[in-house]
Amino acid sequence: MVITRTREELYKTLDEFFKQPGKLALIPTMGNLHDGHLSLIRLAKLKASKTITTIFVNPLQFGKNEDFKKYPRTENLDIEKLKKEKCDILFIPSNSEEVFSKYEKVKNLDSGILGSELCGKIRPGHFNGVLTVVNKLFELINPDIAVFGAKDYQQQILIKKMAETLHPKVNLIKAPIVRSKNGVALSSRNNYLSEKEFNIAANLFKCLKRSVNSYQKSEELEEILDNAKTFLTSKKLMPDYFELRDSELNYISKNNYKGDKVFLGSVTINNTRLIDNIEF
Ligand code: AMP
Repeated sequence: MVITRTREELYKTLDEFFKQPGKLALIPTMGNLHDGHLSLIRLAKLKASKTITTIFVNPLQFGKNEDFKKYPRTENLDIEKLKKEKCDILFIPSNSEEVFSKYEKVKNLDSGILGSELCGKIRPGHFNGVLTVVNKLFELINPDIAVFGAKDYQQQILIKKMAETLHPKVNLIKAPIVRSKNGVALSSRNNYLSEKEFNIAANLFKCLKRSVNSYQKSEELEEILDNAKTFLTSKKLMPDYFELRDSELNYISKNNYKGDKVFLGSVTINNTRLIDNIEF
């Protein structure tokens, strides 16, 4: 695996790769890699002959009081894992300037109305930061394919909408959610939880599954959502939101929608916010 830390190193490496035939797949991450991330690389390797993973804890997507500083950084372990997966290139910028150069204005993207709903309501500006960095990575790397996890459902939809206009040639692939044995979606933020809290967190997935069941039994949507929030609260998982949306994240207000849809939930447990969803 070639490790690049500057734009110059990245460009040189990509030049060499682009001389060879085949497709390049990009997997953007913030590091602290777990099996969820690695599943994205495995999927990318099925679709492309070359893979590039980026590890960049993007300051633009963290709010003032969020965990930018304490976000887990585990560079050496990450590199070992990527080597094992036979990832071809790692871009791990040595500082933010290798992504957002001081010689160019940051092209700040706007995630629109959808970017201020669901997670965006709790994290104002978060998705603007996400779109801004993903757009920049697409510009720097020019991938044929980019892989994003279904765990961050709203993020993946917003990136898809952004790429449709700004990077129509990039083929976006959605990778399924990887879970731990107890059902909790793998996440770097699970590191903040005690063992007890991690076990409690399994109730979010349980609640999503129960809600799908209830929907399929034609229970009233309003009642399903109320029951879900009551259930989560009873488990000391404070619901930030629990909603049903169609697959493009438009509102669904009644239990008669036949198309693809998704229950999405976000809960806070002891200052740690966890998200999860089920598509059906
Ligand atoms: P992050 O490092 O949290 O920015 O995540 C990088 C990518 O990994 C994003 O596309 C996430 O959606 C994806 N990802 C994170 N956790 C999981 C998981 N449990 N299953 C599948 N994809 C995941």
